[in-house]
Parts: sequence; C-alpha cells; structure tokens
Amino acid sequence: MRASPSLWPVNGKGSLKNCDPADTLGFRDKRGAKHKLKADIVALSGLQDVLMASARFGVLVVFQGTDGAGKDSAIKHVMSGLNPQGVSVHAFKQPSEEELRHPYLWRAAIALPERGRIGIFNRSYYEDVIVVRVHPELLAPDFAKQAKETLWKRRFRQINEFERSLVENNIIVLKFYFNLSKKEQARRLLARLREPSKHWKFSAADVTQRKRWSTYKRVYEETLNATSTPWAPWYVLPADHKWVSHLAIADVLVRRLRALRLEYPTLPSESRGMLRAWMRQLKKEA
Ligand code: AMP
Ligand code: MG
Repeated sequence: MRASPSLWPVNGKGSLKNCDPADTLGFRDKRGAKHKLKADIVALSGLQDVLMASARFGVLVVFQGTDGAGKDSAIKHVMSGLNPQGVSVHAFKQPSEEELRHPYLWRAAIALPERGRIGIFNRSYYEDVIVVRVHPELLAPDFAKQAKETLWKRRFRQINEFERSLVENNIIVLKFYFNLSKKEQARRLLARLREPSKHWKFSAADVTQRKRWSTYKRVYEETLNATSTPWAPWYVLPADHKWVSHLAIADVLVRRLRALRLEYPTLPSESRGMLRAWMRQLKKEA
C-alpha cells in the first residue's frame, strides 16, 4: 500500500508529465481504501487534540488547484473528524479593494493559524503567481508595468522566505496541488450544470478558463519547481478520483503530526502535590 502522494522534487526539475491524475496510489478502488481513510480520520482527531493541548506547533494546509479539482470536498471529508474549535478555513477569492492596497501576502498573513491550530487555505497567496500570472491585467498598475519575469521570480523568493519564517516559528506548512485532468474537469463541471443544487458553484469563467488549460499547467509546473523547498515541499495529489486525494491528504497529515511526537502538557510540579487533596475535596462535593 502506498497511500502517500508524490513529493515534488526540491531541485526545480519536476515535471507534471510524470504525475498521473488518475493514479490510485496502490489501491484498487474506493472500497479498498475505505478502512485506511477511516482510520486516518480517527487518528487525526486524536492528534489534533494533542496539537491543541500542547500549543507548540501550528499547521498551515494549503490547497491549490483548478476549479472542480476537489478542494472543497477534501475540506469537508478529510477534516470531518476535527474539532472545529481548533480549525480555521479561509477561502481566498478575488482580492477586495482593501486587500489590493496591501502587499499580496498581507491577507494570508492575517489569516494564519496560531500554534495549537490547523489553518486551511482554500486557495492562497499562490493565486498571486498563478491566476495573476495567466491574467496580468489583474495586477495593481505599478506592478503591471514591471518586467514580468522579474516580478514572478521576486514573488517566488518572497513566498519561499515567508514560508521559511513560518516553519522557523513552528508553523508547519503542508502544500497540496490537486492535479486534475482536463477530461475529469469537464465531467465535474457538467455534473454541476446538471444538478440545480450545484449551480451556485458554477461560474462561466470555469468554462472559459479551460481554453488556457495548458498555460495554467505550465505556470503551475514552474511554480511547483520554484517553491518546493526542503522546509515546505509540495505534494502532488492525483485528483481524478476524489477518494484518492482524500486518502493522500489524510495520510500526509497523520504522518506529519505523528512525527512531532507531541504530548499532553503535565500539571506543574507544585500542582501535582495538590492533586490528591483536590480530588478528595471534589469527591465530597460531587
Ligand atoms: P472559487 O475558489 O471557485 O470560489 O473561486 C475563487 C476565484 O478567485 C478563483 O477564480 C481564483 O482564481 C480567484 N482568486 C483568488 N485569489 C486571487 C488573487 N489573488 N487574484 C485574482 N484572483 C484570485
Ligand atoms: Mg469556482
């Protein structure tokens, strides 16, 4: 059993051609993977409890991918066992006027999870080197004038430094790219149109953006190569089967949190001596 998604190489030489969106990570089908996913979701719940109690580390989970890639569904399923008190989900949309007046990392910085919490970014500051790169007309005027290659290189550096500072401050950064095939996206968008309760998720832009499919893939590939670092590498999720991406995300989260070997804080020594006396008193009152 594999279950773990591929780590994008940190040498800047990865290629999306080597990543099959329909890969099932060693599992035959959804039924075969059910037990592992269930077990990981239960494990995640316990690990989150210690994460909250110990408050030594925070976890930032970044979800990137095209429309219909399964980001929303992954949040709904993989995080279903988590205690909502310790989780925040932030969906990054087209920036507001206020957000555009700030450096692009600002809105991400104010949405970061604190130590003890898991923060999920449904899209993120990576949009500022992806969608904005494909559509430079979205840039604020001063930046629109700059030489673009310099601009993106500079942003990659800023993002890498931003993430390094997070990791150095005990915020673990886990980045997932949902690698969806063009065909499967068409099927999912079609399903959205066929089902009236899913119409709200549909946007005409989803269809027009498909014309830029290969540009997006190229820009994603460059971004993965420029920002997969030893401190915050990218995971590439095969996204054509939702159960596979769910399985892979849960696997990475469980392994990463387990590796921290977190423990519940113990009572301070002066309180430990009082433990029996307090219990005696409470027993009388119970
Ligand atoms: P959705 O995730 O379907 O709700 O759509 C959100 C939309 O906001 C997507 O089309 C994103 O590309 C867009 N978006 C997110 N961040 C930015 C950004 N920094 N600049 C421009 N568009 C963005
Ligand atoms: Mg959308």
